[in-house]
Amino acid sequence: MNSNFSFGLMNRQNKTVDYLIDALHEKKSMRKKHVPNVEFCMELIKYEEKDDHVIAVVKNTKSNVEEEIICQYLVGCDGVHSTVRKGINGWTFEGQTLKSSWALADVEIDHELVKYDQATSFVLNEGPIAAIPLDARKNTYRLVVKIGDENKNETNDHVTHGLTNKNHITLEELQKLIDERIAPIKLELKNPVWISNFKINERIVNRYRTGRVFIAGDAAHCHSPLGGQGMNLGIQDAHNLAFKLALVIRDQAADVNKLLDSYEHERYPVGKNVIEGTGFATKMVTGNDYITSFLRTRIAPILFHFFPQTVFKFQNNLLQNNLNYLPESSEILHKYKPRSGAENQLIEAGHYVQDGLLMKITSHKVHERITMFDVFRSTALKHTLILFTLNKGVTSDCNPLIETLLEIYNDYKNTITPIIISYQGVVQTADIPFMPFQEEGREQHIFVECKFELHEKYGVTKEFGQQAFVLIRPDLYIASAVFEDDVDKLKSFLDQYLVKADR
Ligand SMILES: Cc1cc2nc3c(=O)[nH]c(=O)nc-3n(C[C@H](O)[C@H](O)[C@H](O)COP(=O)(O)OP(=O)(O)OC[C@H]3O[C@@H](n4cnc5c(N)ncnc54)[C@H](O)[C@@H]3O)c2cc1C
Repeated sequence: MNSNFSFGLMNRQNKTVDYLIDALHEKKSMRKKHVPNVEFCMELIKYEEKDDHVIAVVKNTKSNVEEEIICQYLVGCDGVHSTVRKGINGWTFEGQTLKSSWALADVEIDHELVKYDQATSFVLNEGPIAAIPLDARKNTYRLVVKIGDENKNETNDHVTHGLTNKNHITLEELQKLIDERIAPIKLELKNPVWISNFKINERIVNRYRTGRVFIAGDAAHCHSPLGGQGMNLGIQDAHNLAFKLALVIRDQAADVNKLLDSYEHERYPVGKNVIEGTGFATKMVTGNDYITSFLRTRIAPILFHFFPQTVFKFQNNLLQNNLNYLPESSEILHKYKPRSGAENQLIEAGHYVQDGLLMKITSHKVHERITMFDVFRSTALKHTLILFTLNKGVTSDCNPLIETLLEIYNDYKNTITPIIISYQGVVQTADIPFMPFQEEGREQHIFVECKFELHEKYGVTKEFGQQAFVLIRPDLYIASAVFEDDVDKLKSFLDQYLVKADR
């Protein structure tokens, strides 16, 4: 499994928003440059794309004062009704509104069947009733209930947050509906924080980029909330686009259009896949035709019992724990074919990074246990170029490869941070070439593995005997991975991808 976190974690979305804003403030307090303010109550009214910039008109909704913002690029993260999307003719939001209607409520429930450490679901032919824990101390749960089916299609105009609002259901109506469906069980609903009803929309834009204008998040796609992927999908869009825009704005992209187009090439299939996956799961959970009902009540329990791995795999796909980009679909992923004997070994471009335990080396001594993700926390503002050596430790034997690593670093020092990961053994820093990252006052970027686990995960094996370079993007996907003999292919790839730094 790709992720260390192959499970669903419930967290209120407003808290996630707080975490993101706190992280921005933290960066600001560290006096990092270019940390933007989040300004609330500013509404985008209209915008116009010019040859080399975009003019956006925004209005302060408190003072009604309008101002013009001139920017290089505009990213519409403005939800399903996106003004940005509607601002360009031909930007469509195709899809459908499902017939089923739903209620959603954050309520207190106190019943032995509904436990705070698990999601509880009543799978019924009339539709599911699910209680998902939110706050154990207050016995608060998010209740999701299918109310019924309608044979009426809604239009785009009624969509909110990927859902279509109807007249609000009351607590009493919801209580009555649940009582009737699960009698004699009585789930008493109390103290609702809010109650809402909605219809599910499955829609996706026809493109993610039009010239200097991009869209991300719900503005680009909306789908069934089953699996809880809407916000995650939007954050991934932003993560994918952010480093590309940063490279372009800093004049560090070798081919601006190729890089910016890769946003759509990489993210569109993911959005489509989530819509299809959550759509299928929703149909399986809610469909009341004979076949779906048979699959749900007769086949699914057998699958759960005898083939838990299959169910686990589907669940992980739904939760996007196995998300990789395909080199064929993206022009900025290195299509590298190792020579025969090494196929299927080395990790492929487009895969998400693998985590594992490392020792960080300082002053000739093994010093600190850290994980690969800890390393990325300090390197991922740039690309990270890892040299995986097969030596025991880092000694003068590694010098030719370290020289190559440094040569690449010197060419791309604005965009790449080099690190070395070796197998356990002696690290003779005195014998190896001068490490320029020392110059920057950082810890030396040399790490040692204790178990050979990471080498294996990245496909650098003692049996094959080839060392490798792995280039990791700031969004933590592999851009390129090559064996040592093919380092020229990595250099050619970099020529097409990043602009060299002035020496
Ligand atoms: C009931 C419910 C449950 C959900 N559960 C989950 C879950 O468990 N997990 C999950 O990952 N996702 C979940 N989602 C989906 C998730 O909430 C959305 O996918 C996510 O909020 C989308 O984020 P966004 O920033 O793209 O859009 P939004 O959250 O819609 O944010 C868009 C923002 O843009 C602002 N805006 C709109 N127009 C303009 C304009 N012209 N100018 C300036 N600002 C503008 C809006 O005010 C809003 O603040 C759920 C959604 C709902 C409704």
